Parts: sequence; C-alpha cells; structure tokens
Amino acid sequence: MEPFHPADKIQDLQYFGEFGGVNPSISDSSTYTFLSAKTMFDTFEGNAEGCYLYSRHSSPMNLYLSQALAAMEGTESANVAASGMGAITSVIMQLCHAGDEIVSSRTIYGGTYAFMKNMLPNWGIKTHFVDITKLEVVEAAINAQTKVLYCETVSNPLLEVADIEGLANLARKYNLKLVVDNTFSPLSVAPAKLGADVVIHSLTKFINGSSDTVGGVVCASQEFINDLKNVNNGAMMLFGATMDSLRASSILKNLRTLHIRMKQHSHNALYLATQFEKDGLKVVYPGLESHPSHAVYSKMLNKEYGFGGMLTLDVGTLDRANALMELMQHRNLGYLAVSLGFYKTLFSAPGTSTSSEIPLEEQIEMGLTDGLIRFSIGLDNDIERTYGLMKSCMIELGIL
Ligand SMILES: *Cc1c(COP(=O)(O)O)cnc(C)c1O
Repeated sequence: MEPFHPADKIQDLQYFGEFGGVNPSISDSSTYTFLSAKTMFDTFEGNAEGCYLYSRHSSPMNLYLSQALAAMEGTESANVAASGMGAITSVIMQLCHAGDEIVSSRTIYGGTYAFMKNMLPNWGIKTHFVDITKLEVVEAAINAQTKVLYCETVSNPLLEVADIEGLANLARKYNLKLVVDNTFSPLSVAPAKLGADVVIHSLTKFINGSSDTVGGVVCASQEFINDLKNVNNGAMMLFGATMDSLRASSILKNLRTLHIRMKQHSHNALYLATQFEKDGLKVVYPGLESHPSHAVYSKMLNKEYGFGGMLTLDVGTLDRANALMELMQHRNLGYLAVSLGFYKTLFSAPGTSTSSEIPLEEQIEMGLTDGLIRFSIGLDNDIERTYGLMKSCMIELGIL
C-alpha cells in the first residue's frame, strides 16, 4: 500500500467564506433561486454542476464537510447524514432488496444489530451474524443471495479487529460490497485504501469530538454517492436523514483538530491499558501485544495516530462495574455516559446500555460479560495522574 496521509489531505483543503472569512460561509437556506426555469429543470435531472436545488439533496456547507471526509478516507466522494444510523440504514437499503442477504460481524454497534436483526426481515432481507475475525467462517456464510459484507474496523464494544484486506478479497471473489463502519478508528485506519467499497462513520464520536451533536457520513465512489442522492430512488435523498448546515459547519471546524486529538486519545489509552495489564486486570486494548488481533491491526494502522481511544476492562460482576463507574465519576475521572470520543473519559457497562439490543444468551456467547466496562479514554493532560487516581478507586473497592 502506498503511504496515505489523511490529516494532510484534510489540511490541504482551503475553503474561504463569502467575505474572505477563514471559515466557509454557512448557507442558511433550504431552497435556492434560479435565474432561468431551464436551469431548474437541468438541476432536477442532475445536470447542473454547482447549482443547488433543495437542502435535503445538498447544501454548500454539507458538500464542504463531505469533501473533507472523502479526502480523509481517500474515497472519490462522500455524503453527510443526520446521524450515524441515518448513514448506515441508507447504505443498507440502497444495496439490498427483498430476497438479498447480508453477512455481518456479530459484534457491531447495538443500533446496527437491532436494525439488521429486527427490521430488515420486514423487507425480506436476512442477515447472518458471524465471527468476523475468522475469514473461513465469513466465507462459509456467503451464498448466492449475499450482497453485502458488513463490519466495523474495530468493533463495538468488544474491540475485535476486522482484517479488511482479507474481507475485501472475499468481497471481490463473490462480487459483494464490503461496507465498513470506521467510527472507532478515524485516521488510524483508511478502510477504502484496503479495499472497502463503502466507509461509514458516526460523526457523533471522535470526528466531532465534543459530544454536542449527532451526525454521520458515507464515503464511497462518486457513482454510489450519486445513487444515494438520486431524487427518484436514492435512500439518503428519500429517507431524509439530512444534516443541518449549521451542524455541518461546526463539525468541519472540529475535524480540523482530529489528528491532534486522536494522537492524545491513543497515547492515553495505551498508557492506561499497559498499566492495567501490569496490575493483572482483564483489559482489552488492540494496542497491547496480548490482543488477539494486534498483528492484524498493526498491519492496517497509520502508526502515527495509534490504536485509538477505546479500551475495555472486565471487573467480574455488574455490581463491581457499577460501583467502580460511580466512584470514578464521583472523583471526576470521567462520566458515566454512553457514546465516545469526548475530551473527558466516558464509561458504561455495554451489556446493560449500548448493547442491550443484543439478547442475553448471545451476549454471553460473544464474550460480552456482565462486569465489562467500556472506556472511551479522554484527552487528559497528565495520564499518569489519572492512572494513579483510577488505581486508588480500584483498591478502595477491592478490585485491585
Ligand atoms: C454511535 C455509533 C453508531 C451510530 O451513530 P449515531 O450517530 O448515534 O447514529 C454506529 N456505529 C458505531 C460504531 C457507533 O459507535
């Protein structure tokens, strides 16, 4: 693979505002005037480059943000959405029709799992959930009806790592689309460069990074993005999960500092994971050599951004997990909250919260135990100090 420098690609994009502003102007309009009726007709037909029709289709600020995210992922094009789920559901509905099947990782975001398991059957679309780290198991689940291979680069919440090149080879062999949710590893991994057809992010998490909005994006070929925006049969256009221009503007500004934030999240998470492991705790972090997918991840990694900010700790029982989270919040070491990518450390027990859509027996089978705490490690300036304070919480509760 040729070297790819996503942060430089973002940095090179220069958008000026209407009056020479250093940030692009927000077009605060849902509809746009035309000087001639003919141009309006051509725009409807998709033949008037640079003309805007209606903001559910596109708007200047959403195009700027989309372009920056396409540059980051190294795809031809992109389109932002109102949420990560807005992006995911649109992509699946665009690619699959009644009778089609999906082979998906079984450890995926709870909302995506619920959509595939509980809603897609209503439209005649079936999903096989598999252990994505075993390529032979993935291949065995593919049949003549399969249209999509679906995974997360680093899975939520178990931090399993998908071998994207291996999956892309399978997708090519069976003529499938490989769709990758890269929410946990922006900049660190560029799935399209490894052969993924479609890359999705929940912008709500690391990319925006300030826990003040939800948002999503689909990064893909120009052809697929045009399909999604088609006024007659495009899922993004017709389902209407459109991002607001004001939000697109604030997310674009936050994207400018993503590279600095990712390095700090990764630095802090690696430090804590290393210390926790030395303490004999059951910690899972893909940056540790003990992680089963450490080698696979290292091969895909843009090293300078590190292994990301997510780690899990299994403290044995739900009661202990809850006590630890409450005490850490009390000591201001983080917040007991779902979501990720904030400046502050966030923690939650995924079995009872973000993965509660997954039935209990399936949670047990995939290793989603009761005492598991998912951490999104924050941007703490002095992580050694944070570690010391976390450790004293654990000693107090008899976990250490
Ligand atoms: C949060 C999340 C989503 C859903 O995104 P929303 O912006 O909440 O709709 C999808 N995938 C992953 C991996 C997530 O963490």
